[in-house]
Amino acid sequence: MSVETRISELTREGEAAIAAATTSAALEDVRVRFLGRRAELPNLLRGVAELPPEQRGAVGKAANQARRTLEAKLEERAGQLAAGELHARLEQDRIDVTLPADPLPAVGRLHLITQTRREIEDVFIGLGYNVAEGPEVENVYYNFDALNHDPTHPARAWTDTFYISQEVLLRTHTSPMQVRSMERQPPPIHIIVPGRVYRRDSDVTHTPQFHQIEGLAIDEGITLTDLKGTLLEFARAIFGPERVIRLRPHFFPFTEPSVEVDVSCFNCSGGVTASGERCGICKGTGWLEILGSGMVDPNVLLHVAGNGYDPEVVQGFAFGMGIERIAMLKHGVSDLRLFYDNDLRFLEQFP
Ligand SMILES: [Zn+2]
Repeated sequence: MSVETRISELTREGEAAIAAATTSAALEDVRVRFLGRRAELPNLLRGVAELPPEQRGAVGKAANQARRTLEAKLEERAGQLAAGELHARLEQDRIDVTLPADPLPAVGRLHLITQTRREIEDVFIGLGYNVAEGPEVENVYYNFDALNHDPTHPARAWTDTFYISQEVLLRTHTSPMQVRSMERQPPPIHIIVPGRVYRRDSDVTHTPQFHQIEGLAIDEGITLTDLKGTLLEFARAIFGPERVIRLRPHFFPFTEPSVEVDVSCFNCSGGVTASGERCGICKGTGWLEILGSGMVDPNVLLHVAGNGYDPEVVQGFAFGMGIERIAMLKHGVSDLRLFYDNDLRFLEQFP
């Protein structure tokens, strides 16, 4: 192979290597490989003086030409790579100076139970109610006796309720705050009481600990119509403005008369969905049971008659609902235990 042929081969190899380099560092390796002190081409140039005189001119010219070509290509490619790398670095370091600096974006979100509790509280605060809280470790007196539970009421059983002692238990509902609140302030009273309650129960729709919201309104001249109007307002705020409610006769020890309250299903019309199928949310009935309520039994008021709650003078209503139940109905949650599993795939569905 003649020296000129070798030089043009080196030029082609060098050009290909330059084009293939994708980083400045790789390009620097190519420069050393083809134009470095120990590289073949510069060696050829240094050896020109030792060639026979008739070859020196042509070989020297070709080798110089090859070096200039490769140097120019290296320069050009270095410029391209540097520009690309600078761009990438700027992209990476980009700071959006228009972003608000403070506060830092919130991490996480409120649990669906908390969201629902706040939503319900907002409705009743809007209706003029105050939010009260009470003890979770409660006296039997406030939990049962003052609420007109007869001594043989099944909820009093050790198998249904967590007792701390004969007289102290984990409250089974938020209702003990009815008498506690009336002891603290004379009428009129309009309160809701959100909080944790405890029962010895565990299955798809029951957990040993869950959340309730109690409501109590006592004043002169309160009737069942006020109760119905209040709960209709609540049902529409939570389940949609088209909702209607119905009251069904029921029994609770501490209200008389007592009613269970249903809201018309938000997912169907009369139990049939828009696509003509039986509604799964209300199981084809068109109604969803949301809470229990009634007019406060005069026997309850007698416990606080000394504080202005004379049942001959004031009347009122009470209601109690499960926060989990409202959240399950509203969001189509099928298993109560999902609320407590801490599975992010579930929790993240409720931003
Ligand atoms: Zn339905």
